[in-house]
Amino acid sequence: SVMDTNFVELLERAKAAPPNPKGEDLRYDGQVALVTGAGGGLGREYALLLAKQGASVVVNDLGGSHTGEGGSGSAADKVVEEIRQAGGKAVANYDSVEDGDKLVETALKAFGRIDIIVNNAGILRDISFARMPEKDWDFVHRVHLRGTYKVIKAAWPHMVKQKYGRIINTASAVGLYGNFGQTNYSSAKLGIAGLTKTLALEGQRKNILVNVIAPNAGTRMTATIMPPEMVEALKPAYVAPLVAYLAHSSSEETGSIFEVGSGWNAKVQWQRSGGFGFPANKELLPEQVAANWSKIIDFEDGRATNPSSTTESFQGFMENFSNTVEEE
Ligand code: NAD
Repeated sequence: SVMDTNFVELLERAKAAPPNPKGEDLRYDGQVALVTGAGGGLGREYALLLAKQGASVVVNDLGGSHTGEGGSGSAADKVVEEIRQAGGKAVANYDSVEDGDKLVETALKAFGRIDIIVNNAGILRDISFARMPEKDWDFVHRVHLRGTYKVIKAAWPHMVKQKYGRIINTASAVGLYGNFGQTNYSSAKLGIAGLTKTLALEGQRKNILVNVIAPNAGTRMTATIMPPEMVEALKPAYVAPLVAYLAHSSSEETGSIFEVGSGWNAKVQWQRSGGFGFPANKELLPEQVAANWSKIIDFEDGRATNPSSTTESFQGFMENFSNTVEEE
């Protein structure tokens, strides 16, 4: 099991991490960051870090439960207070990300611009697909995918005009790999990855860079499924530095997916098997697909690639047009 003795020891050591010497500060002075769902968990860490490094921060949170019930301004207010106490600049916003334009309006009203967006707000409505009511499908999609869309849509013209923007969206390993009981959540999360990759292409010439992270952190969300030792050891503060880096003007990364947590940071890319090309000038039968199945799904023959664009992906198809056989 993951909770064997050795692992428990590792968790103990991770809990006691001392301060770490660092290089030159990454600063965000004069920049405005909007962090959604920043009243707790991961979002709070992003807001605190960006504010500490000089950004003016809009702390958005509607303050509901992890399933999206209820609401109160106190979660966002507390984080704003924390930032101000530490000498930083922040304002609260209590609207749902479903009304993304109101969040962006708060940034423009309070600070006059918007440079950084961290789309982080989220809820869970876990239930097996067979038993899931349609409202739980819709609600999860509305908060995650549509919320991410609404916030970016409202900020986009401002970023285009100022020829600058840094957007960090939030997916999940569950979106990349799947998980029982989370069809609503995983589909919304992978949708956010698709949104990210296409927006990165549309934003690149305007210096609007868009990336997506799949974090792992102990928060009230994961407290519902992780043992308490794990929740404590997987500090959200270990996710924030990657987000801050991607939000910085010096970063050139765009259209990428990252997995991050426990101090580990990694980039994810698609992998495609070398595949099997049937003659392009001959009728193709399902029986031939069946007969060559092991070759179609083979990742170990040294021919697998990592297409990083639709054009690159399409090359595989084009090449097969030269794969022809003489008529007997
Ligand atoms: P969390 O529940 O602590 O934080 C989410 C915050 O979003 C809450 O403060 C909540 O009030 C707020 N929120 C919910 N709906 C909102 C809405 N409509 N408008 C504005 N705010 C809203 O959970 P967390 O673990 O910090 O999660 C943050 C993000 O990271 C989520 O998108 C989550 O899906 C994602 N994520 C987290 C993990 C993890 O290990 N913690 C793993 C994968 C993905």
